[in-house]
Amino acid sequence: MRISILGIEDERFNRPLQLIANLFFEETKIIRGNAEEADIQIIFNLQVKKDISVSAELTDKSGKILASDYQKEMFPSGSEKERFKQIKNAVAHVYLTVLQDWTGITQKWGILTGVRPTKLLHRKVREGVPIQFAHQQLMDDYLITDEKIELMQQIVDRQLAVVPDLYSLQKEVSIYIGIPFCPTKCAYCTFPAYAINGRQGSVDSFLGGLHYEMKKIGAWLKENGVRITTVYYGGGTPTSITAEEMDMLYEEMYLSFPDVENIREITVEAGRPDTITPEKLEILKKWHIDRISINPQSYTQETLKAIGRHHTVTETIEKYHLAREMGMNNINMDLIIGLPGEGISEFAHSLAETKKLMPESLTVHTLSFKRASEMTKNKAKYKVAEREEVESMMELAQDWTKDHGYVPYYLYRQKNILGNLENVGYSFPNQESIYNIMIMEEQQTIIGLGCGAASKFIDPITGKITHFANPKDPKSYNDGFEAYTNDKIKILDGLFSCLK
Ligand code: SF4
Repeated sequence: MRISILGIEDERFNRPLQLIANLFFEETKIIRGNAEEADIQIIFNLQVKKDISVSAELTDKSGKILASDYQKEMFPSGSEKERFKQIKNAVAHVYLTVLQDWTGITQKWGILTGVRPTKLLHRKVREGVPIQFAHQQLMDDYLITDEKIELMQQIVDRQLAVVPDLYSLQKEVSIYIGIPFCPTKCAYCTFPAYAINGRQGSVDSFLGGLHYEMKKIGAWLKENGVRITTVYYGGGTPTSITAEEMDMLYEEMYLSFPDVENIREITVEAGRPDTITPEKLEILKKWHIDRISINPQSYTQETLKAIGRHHTVTETIEKYHLAREMGMNNINMDLIIGLPGEGISEFAHSLAETKKLMPESLTVHTLSFKRASEMTKNKAKYKVAEREEVESMMELAQDWTKDHGYVPYYLYRQKNILGNLENVGYSFPNQESIYNIMIMEEQQTIIGLGCGAASKFIDPITGKITHFANPKDPKSYNDGFEAYTNDKIKILDGLFSCLK
């Protein structure tokens, strides 16, 4: 789809115009100015005085014309960035409206293209905006539908029930630990995940670096009296390493981190069932880690094969039972909607199988075509469902979880996600993952240790976010872990010194 844009020169609009067009069309090219080859032309008329006043007129090749206009009071703002944001949203408003009218597709998230829509509602709750008023603002400003606002409200309510002090946890931190190994690499994966076989040398050096980071950061937290809210072991698959290596890692956690007994939650992703053994489950139990994730993704064997997961459906079920028998009492399972070759019947089958297990939480992802994945590079090879079918599967997940006692408690969106939908974490009440709430709502610092671990430092006073990423590949990590640890400690010193 080629869209010619007239009446807006400012280059800062390029990205937002592209992102919104991507919600409607697979491949979009935005052309500035009048272009013969364009499929549609959109002429904007933008005036910014005390109010922002904007109109858009779309003309297609058949001569059909659709128009929209919008006016919004301009709120005085100290920063140019804030000012531009208001103008950008107003432009997005009319742009989305004409594209919706032309395609007949309603974007349920309106003009929002960001990852964390619930943050918007949290902000309004914190500011004390009455609920009905907050909902109306979200609808007017962003064109979010009733259905999605209701979902956001449910999630915000649940999060505040699980973490009543969510808005005052800035003085604590959570820790993410990234273990970059997996038995094999899945086709849709862009995480730092390296096939573990034949790499023992690399695993040893990596673990050496990780222990170092845990010691140093743990010592800093102790010295500065900063408590840990949650710890999350992700990756890769943290259970890819041996039981002995896991044992030493958790021992390090208990030795180095402050007050581990009172950390609210420690989760270990055991995502790939082919990594789970009785010995490893024993180790988890030994260190009082009882929240794990075992991820089927699908219960259709051909699908697992097509996406390169190299484990069987039977193995997922067996390992789930094994984990249960061995005392794991908070198990999450991930499913993905829209995997290659899957439609409603395969997804309904996955839900039917889930019913036999009833894990404490179920995370329903919608397949996203991330740029670096094998699946995206060879898109033609992987046939996926159409937008309407993906939406029906999402509705099926919503209804099924509701009927079986699960409640939604976090959500996030991704770019290039099928059907422009979302990923939703459902859980039995009071079994929610606190870490997932922390990572989504960005209310406190998360320190990332290990390979590919992204740290997100949140200024406890201003809320300003600073990102810091450890390298994704074990080699670069092994070469530089000391420097990365020091850099993080410097940032922590800067942020937390004002609290002393
Ligand atoms: S198990 Fe997870 S982290 Fe590992 S390759 Fe597959 S999707 Fe990536």
